[in-house]
Amino acid sequence: MQRQRRRDTKPEVEVRRLLHAAGIRFRVNARLEPDLRVRGDIVWRGRKVVVFVDGCFWHGCPRHATQPKANADWWRDKLAANVARDRRTDAELAARGWRVLRYWEHEPPTEVATDLLRALDTPR
Ligand SMILES: [Zn+2]
Repeated sequence: MQRQRRRDTKPEVEVRRLLHAAGIRFRVNARLEPDLRVRGDIVWRGRKVVVFVDGCFWHGCPRHATQPKANADWWRDKLAANVARDRRTDAELAARGWRVLRYWEHEPPTEVATDLLRALDTPR
């Protein structure tokens, strides 16, 4: 959920720093299109490329997702709804011609930045 996405999480900041160092400019936490609520963590509007750095807990990382024990049912539904929303967002953006690149917050920023630079160099 958008409200739950922490801004300026450390891995994301580091990825942005590495992109800047490579001379790449981009928008941060930016709306993609006027009628869409979703904001991308890193956005190139002209190229229609958007990056999400997903938090392991909120977005259900297969390696680190945990299910809180208190209010287990509520949390299970909540987290499943988050993942479902991510997939709907991906589909909606793809339908509008966006290239969606998702990374987990646990991924080393250097690897994310390298992958991104490669992706930006590669036509879809
Ligand atoms: Zn993770």
